[in-house]
Amino acid sequence: MSRKNLALSRRKFVLTASATAMSSILLKGCLGNPPEDKPAVSGSPTVAAGSAVKAGEEPEVKTAKLGYLPIVESAPLIIASAKGFFAKYGMTDVKVEKQANWGAARDNVKIGSGGGGIDGGQWQMPMPYLITEGIITDGAKIPMYILCQLNTQGNGIAIANKHKGKNVGLKADPKYFADLKASGNRFKAAYTFPKANQDFWIRYWLAGNGIDPDSEVDLLTVPASQTVADMKRGAMDAFSTGDPWPYRIVADDIGFISALTSELWQAHPEEYFAVRQDWADKHPKATKALLKAIMEAQQWCDDFRNRKEMTAILAQREYFGVPEKVLEEPLMGKYNLGERTIDDQQQSVLYWKDKRGSVSYPYQSHDLWFLTESHRWNFLDKGQYESAKALISKVNREDIWKQCAQEIGVPASDIPSDKSRGIEEFFDGVKFDPANPEAYLSSLKIKRV
Ligand code: CA
Repeated sequence: MSRKNLALSRRKFVLTASATAMSSILLKGCLGNPPEDKPAVSGSPTVAAGSAVKAGEEPEVKTAKLGYLPIVESAPLIIASAKGFFAKYGMTDVKVEKQANWGAARDNVKIGSGGGGIDGGQWQMPMPYLITEGIITDGAKIPMYILCQLNTQGNGIAIANKHKGKNVGLKADPKYFADLKASGNRFKAAYTFPKANQDFWIRYWLAGNGIDPDSEVDLLTVPASQTVADMKRGAMDAFSTGDPWPYRIVADDIGFISALTSELWQAHPEEYFAVRQDWADKHPKATKALLKAIMEAQQWCDDFRNRKEMTAILAQREYFGVPEKVLEEPLMGKYNLGERTIDDQQQSVLYWKDKRGSVSYPYQSHDLWFLTESHRWNFLDKGQYESAKALISKVNREDIWKQCAQEIGVPASDIPSDKSRGIEEFFDGVKFDPANPEAYLSSLKIKRV
């Protein structure tokens, strides 16, 4: 097949095939096998050739097992592996391992690599705190260190087509949701893991529109990989997750996107890189080597000239296993939301810098927002909230980030001097001042505290 025909057939394929059919065809190798006329993507350490390991900095081990989910948040981990950044810092045998879902990632970090699991990886917030406190690990307290933020933005809220034209956009009409409830068809919305980012985004969007997420809609947990199929068969009205899943809803004509998370909260904190504290304390040099490699990968990912190659790498079967087409446009900030379009690189997923400054630096004020939001919905009661807040300076190791930034030559102007990013503002005009989280909680109309 010529390259042109292949591109055409692939486009047609993406636009018409259902998600389920898509994966089965991919498995049969129709598009999954690398075509002869497609340039091979190098997985070898070409970019990062040459060692950056200085005398005395040799890592204690050359290996680590890091988990990831096949969504754009994981790109820095995958790129650090595929482009040789881990190897450049002496970590020549890092395994990045795809996790079936967030629950599997949690279970794997609980047992650690020694038990056949993982040492750390990609996390939604505040999972590292919930794991540290034993709240989602059956009481087993596994202390974690947050080392950097992996990304901002790149997530969206997908809505089934039957709600098109019903004022279910960034601004949504509470009466429409109330009418659905009254007619016995309560709006069903899904997230990929309860009490973490996606749950917060969908709740924030609803509550910001005056819709109580606990009484006006049904919220449920669905793994990201099932969201497209579930919406197609009518099992849900909305879901919140990272690309490529929201995009596929539009590409497959199953639904539309009401809002990008960049519209709910510009430059919002999204997912994080965190590892088990016992692993990091035992291997402090290897920990820094991993972080330096990820920070370099984040800079690489943020250069839009690299995004085509990044798309090709992420699309590979061993990583996301999706056609490049479904990643290509969102990664360039081109969003067909169904009811409208956006063409703005600054609204796409960003990994290193955004309009508020550093993406990678883990602001402790953001950890505080996630914990405060957890308290807002009573995911953490008052005692758990206070206890988790007291852990921020132990779990969030922004000090290690700063050391690494200096050692890899990040300009001083790109290294935040304050652990707080200051006041945050949301799409509904609500403000969060990290110096006064109580005032934020008081200002909210819909809450469980
Ligand atoms: Ca996410």
